[in-house]
Amino acid sequence: MKEEIFLKGVNGKNGTYGKGHSKENLNGYKIIGDNHIATSTETPLRKDAFRLSDEAKMRIIEEKFRDIMETLGLDLTDDSLQGSPRRVSKMFVKEIFYGLNPANRPEISVFENKFKYGEMLVEKNISLNSFCEHHFLPIIGRAHVAYFSSGQVIGLSKINRIVDYFARRPQVQERLTVQIAKELKLVLNTDDVAVVIDSKHLCVACRGIKDEMSSTVTAEYSGKFRDKSIREEFLKYLDL
Ligand SMILES: [Zn+2]
Repeated sequence: MKEEIFLKGVNGKNGTYGKGHSKENLNGYKIIGDNHIATSTETPLRKDAFRLSDEAKMRIIEEKFRDIMETLGLDLTDDSLQGSPRRVSKMFVKEIFYGLNPANRPEISVFENKFKYGEMLVEKNISLNSFCEHHFLPIIGRAHVAYFSSGQVIGLSKINRIVDYFARRPQVQERLTVQIAKELKLVLNTDDVAVVIDSKHLCVACRGIKDEMSSTVTAEYSGKFRDKSIREEFLKYLDL
């Protein structure tokens, strides 16, 4: 029943579910907190973003994608195309956009910095696979991260997980860079964090201007990394 209400909203005239609905309709649904309402650094999400189960979302996306394919003129009875709507729906929800759901946020455990290592720690060339939110085409590149420990350290692979989680959403590279830095600052309990992303946008390479050679570099420096010499040391390690 609740799902029905939601679907009506989605299919409604203006597609803005939530506007005409009283709060009672929202009872029983998990409502995400105020901190998930869109700001310049947060992914713009609807308040009802996680009201549906993954399975229910996949069913809707499958149906809509079938419509898109048919509108393009494709014959969905063809063996090769038959399974595509389902495949695409699964890919969207489970494979490439799972980072939209806070339930998939990586659990990070921090350790005491026993070695008293006080220099900069750099993890470079972290694989990054994201999707441009304007064209839904891949952004492929590398992230480079550095921090100074404030007494806490995290496992190196956790940095990869944080990068991956924020990348697996429709994104703009600037926001992605800031989101990763913000999360690292929170987890590591320090402001001394740097994030650089160097990536290729397939929407630039495959369509529009069709430039296959260009890449986009974004950076977020805070705390000690605002200091020119510290920043230069970091960039020297990257050899960019
Ligand atoms: Zn794009």
